[in-house]
Amino acid sequence: MKRFTYDRPQLEGGAFSLLEQPEASVIAGGTELLNWMRLGIAEPDHLVDIARLPGWGEIALDGETLRIGALATLNKVGEHPLVDAHARALGEACLLAASAQLRNRATIGGNVLQRTRCVYFRAEAPLTWGCNKRQPGSGCAAIAGHSDDAAIFGWSESCAATHPSDPLVALACLDAEAELHSASGVRRLPVCDLHLSQVEAEAEGEDGATAENRLERGELIAAYLIPLRPASRSTYLKVRDRQSFAYSRVTAAASVELEDGVIGALRIALGSVAQRPWRLGRAEQALVGERLEEASLLAAIERDMEEARTLPGSDYKRRLARNAAIRAVMAAGA
Ligand SMILES: Cc1cc2nc3c(=O)[nH]c(=O)nc-3n(C[C@H](O)[C@H](O)[C@H](O)COP(=O)(O)OP(=O)(O)OC[C@H]3O[C@@H](n4cnc5c(N)ncnc54)[C@H](O)[C@@H]3O)c2cc1C
Ligand code: SF4
Repeated sequence: MKRFTYDRPQLEGGAFSLLEQPEASVIAGGTELLNWMRLGIAEPDHLVDIARLPGWGEIALDGETLRIGALATLNKVGEHPLVDAHARALGEACLLAASAQLRNRATIGGNVLQRTRCVYFRAEAPLTWGCNKRQPGSGCAAIAGHSDDAAIFGWSESCAATHPSDPLVALACLDAEAELHSASGVRRLPVCDLHLSQVEAEAEGEDGATAENRLERGELIAAYLIPLRPASRSTYLKVRDRQSFAYSRVTAAASVELEDGVIGALRIALGSVAQRPWRLGRAEQALVGERLEEASLLAAIERDMEEARTLPGSDYKRRLARNAAIRAVMAAGA
């Protein structure tokens, strides 16, 4: 492993100064970054540990929003009464992620910045196959090889990787915003727009395989802000090969507002189907004013699924994702 320096600033300003060093990287819980360093995916010269920044792990109500500090661990978020009361899908997503030990360490800020679980990407260097994310221009072994984890929305021939985070999908469904801090100030970005699909990255003139999110260099996620919607109920569904300590095949988060059995507002996000959470915008609009019934959900969600483009190994995801979305909406509205 390459040698690196390590600093643990006590104040936000100190972190930004340290991050100005070339090849500096933030570390929070370290459950993801240390794996990248072991595999040769990242080789930072300087680690800036933000774990002690005061107030960055707090969860509290702030006016009409629930504010979740980026340093809150997945267990803290999952078990917090305010999350249970106002953002149940997020709490469920956190508690379905990883193992109890990892959730005690893993932060929700670092979680949304984890990278794909594509087997061709997660291997120790040097690679003997093509992976455009690891070595730009080397090709994509997944497209002709094991594609069972591949994206079905928004992917390109350069990369078909998916984003593996559970909490990210719930945050996207709940219309959360990320509060981003940097040396030049604070800005907010809808979590739905934080990540890029490969097609979006290429449309913005970026490399579809390597461009993954819209964070600027030196910018940190300080918190997530979730609008309070007392009339809505949400839930999160994770479909995986075994019931514990496994990444998802497909996930679905749904938030439903019902009036006398009729849908007043609806939000649905799918996970593990793209390099970003995938909102089912057509179904969300079409179902407002409809009764909460499986038949109408099926018809509306099928229209969003028409956009899916699959590889031989990932074709099963089309139906699995559709069914997961229907189940999540029915459960949220039940
Ligand atoms: C065995 C295993 C199983 C797992 N299973 C699941 C699962 O089922 N579902 C799931 O969702 N996740 C799963 N994970 C992922 C885990 O939840 C993440 O590794 C963890 O949440 C990352 O948080 P961290 O604080 O450890 O990040 P770190 O490893 O410290 O950092 C990860 C990345 O985020 C950056 N970063 C960290 N915090 C910030 C911030 N506030 N602002 C800007 N950049 C930041 C770092 O620079 C780095 O690039 C699993 C991980 C492991 C190791
Ligand atoms: S899908 Fe992306 S991460 Fe996986 S092998 Fe292809 S380029 Fe690499």
